[in-house]
Amino acid sequence: MSSGQVTPLTSSDATEARAQMVEHQLRRRGSFDERVLEAMARVPRDRFLPEELRHLAYEDGALPIGSGQTISQPFIVATICQLLELSGDERVLDVGTGSGYQAAVLAELAAEVVTIERVPELAERARSALVQAGYADVEVLVGDGSLGVPARAPFDRIAVAAAAPVVPPALYDQLVEGGRVVVPRGGRWGQQLVLVERTKKGPLERASLPCRFVPLVGAEGFAGS
Ligand code: SAM
Repeated sequence: MSSGQVTPLTSSDATEARAQMVEHQLRRRGSFDERVLEAMARVPRDRFLPEELRHLAYEDGALPIGSGQTISQPFIVATICQLLELSGDERVLDVGTGSGYQAAVLAELAAEVVTIERVPELAERARSALVQAGYADVEVLVGDGSLGVPARAPFDRIAVAAAAPVVPPALYDQLVEGGRVVVPRGGRWGQQLVLVERTKKGPLERASLPCRFVPLVGAEGFAGS
């Protein structure tokens, strides 16, 4: 093949590549519930990528999706879902839609997903990818997700896919009691994935992995760049 050419993924190639991804990147590396692994095996990550990158969809890493943003690494998407402990009947807010991939995985695991993205072009592309991949029920909004979505609150779970200096207070306030939010918290260049549960006595926090996300840009995130 001449350089620069790529072989498009057929649907059965993609299914096989996904099964390999689940086995090698998730099952052998982490401790995930079967429900999370099954969801990761079902969602076609290739469909959430620009055409020219689809052949890389099941590689072990983040990939560019335009506007300086990325689709998250499958291991991180699965880890966020695992930390949220979804049983199937939750209302979930996904902050930082990006490609729409994490929202689709959440839709496999919960009853209702609202996702919010600050870059309108990405939101538009994600909306169309979600519809084409069979996740038309996911509601895609445009706005500053660091403030949550008060009009749709409260949420049982909130997943944040962009780095924040603190767990945004508005997100904690929009959780039901017993609800959970996962946030990559730290500086612009490195963070820790933290899980915060809303309890009667206040926030209960647990740290998970070190990670590196693009910044959450907004009123309760970082200043714009
Ligand atoms: N989970 C996404 C996926 O699976 O494709 C990847 C998300 S990407 C790492 C982070 C996204 O958060 C970017 O698309 C970025 O534009 C968005 N973002 C940053 N700040 C935001 C904010 N305040 N509100 C909503 N989205 C924001």
